[in-house]
Amino acid sequence: MGVRTEVPVCDVLVIGAGPAALAIAAALAERGVAVRGVAPLDPASPWANTYGIWGPEVDALGVQELLEHRWSDCRSDFRAPMPSNASPSDRESTPLATTFHGVDYGLFDRARLQRHWLESCRAAGMVWDQAEASAIAHDRHGSCVSSRDGRQWRARLVIDASGHQPVFVRRPDEGPVAGQAAYGIVGTFTAAPVEPGQFVLMDYRSDHLSAAERQAGPPTFLYAMDLGDGRFFVEETSLALAPPVPYAVLQERLMRRLAHRGVGVAAVEHEEFCLFPMNTPLPDLSQQVVGFGGAASLVHPASGYMVGSLLRRAPALAQAITEGLLDPALDAPALAQHAWRALWPLELRRKHALYRFGLEKLMRYPEDQLRLFFRTFFSLPTNQWYGFLTNTLSLPELIAAMLRLFAVAPWSVRFGLMQQQGRELQLLLRLFKP
Ligand SMILES: Cc1cc2nc3c(=O)[nH]c(=O)nc-3n(C[C@H](O)[C@H](O)[C@H](O)COP(=O)(O)OP(=O)(O)OC[C@H]3O[C@@H](n4cnc5c(N)ncnc54)[C@H](O)[C@@H]3O)c2cc1C
Repeated sequence: MGVRTEVPVCDVLVIGAGPAALAIAAALAERGVAVRGVAPLDPASPWANTYGIWGPEVDALGVQELLEHRWSDCRSDFRAPMPSNASPSDRESTPLATTFHGVDYGLFDRARLQRHWLESCRAAGMVWDQAEASAIAHDRHGSCVSSRDGRQWRARLVIDASGHQPVFVRRPDEGPVAGQAAYGIVGTFTAAPVEPGQFVLMDYRSDHLSAAERQAGPPTFLYAMDLGDGRFFVEETSLALAPPVPYAVLQERLMRRLAHRGVGVAAVEHEEFCLFPMNTPLPDLSQQVVGFGGAASLVHPASGYMVGSLLRRAPALAQAITEGLLDPALDAPALAQHAWRALWPLELRRKHALYRFGLEKLMRYPEDQLRLFFRTFFSLPTNQWYGFLTNTLSLPELIAAMLRLFAVAPWSVRFGLMQQQGRELQLLLRLFKP
């Protein structure tokens, strides 16, 4: 007779151990839910990505101590390239040379952020199993997950937080998905790539490229920061494109940009290869497995940010699940519906539709129009551009910000906003039927 192995049973099984998995596991554990995790690596193993966030977001959440850096000198540069015969004074007198954001920006201490969530999990005695989930079967009472190495788990609800290409969550195919791609270096340089104490969100200057290269695209920008002690992080970034801009192009552009400003790389401490989907459709909200994080399309489709959303949205989702688990009228499929509705209520779905529409437009802009667009965008009142980027405006406020942008934008940008190309109209109509 074979040896029978017990299948672990829990209320909620979380798949993954990235920021999304830890955020939702911690919020459930804090509410006394019996939660278990499954991920290929130890959940305490270091994360590779660097995560940035706007200062007021961490202030509002009361988690300022999770930042390792915070900058108040935050700026962008949307200057157009000058003709080659322009004098230095012409260059300096370009109107609106630098955009000062007037809002702090921060970089998470990754290890601290991870510990912040893991401590809540540990305090509740949560168990993490090391395995790669590969199959799921549902019934009225819950779901059964199997791993590649033949183990199984049973739970009333499964949360798939396995990232942007989720193992279980299904999303409709709505055509090409744009990727944000970036190549970055943390290191030391022969000269400072940005001023001391400075954070640069978007440096869209492109005078290091030839006119033909600028015409051919794709537009890319520098995201850079002073990390102190002579260390800097510089990253050449493509906001979004389908197919994404290859790393080799970004790396070459970064080196040329730096060289053009007389900056050489002295020592590389870490290279960041960044690629994630920006405008994924919403998942099918009727499925019995619930998603969170990249798996549930939580990335802001117009900015690429997500960690602030995880911190804001995990408690509400965890609360809805906790209440759902206590409701005897909810079988497992109904519990999953209840959770999906809490994660993606109508207003957030409508805003997601507007953001996807907005990104679709931006991806069509040539470099000069894109620069004008961003210059106009950051000239909006702070609460409007900040609320847009952090997804903290209500739907009417978001529409008001978009209308104001249209009203104050230069004609070339306005014209681009009015033209409906490809699937833009279809995406805009989702506002009414998300
Ligand atoms: C380089 C980079 C930089 C970024 N910078 C920022 C930023 O500055 N600010 C910001 O807000 N956002 C940023 N993002 C976007 C987003 O916040 C990140 O992509 C974030 O890591 C997504 O979190 P996640 O937990 O959903 O997925 P992931 O971080 O991808 O984690 C997925 C987890 O699931 C596990 N897993 C995968 N498959 C399975 C399986 N079959 N079974 C079990 N477990 C599985 C993985 O091992 C991993 O633990 C960045 C993204 C990248 C790639």
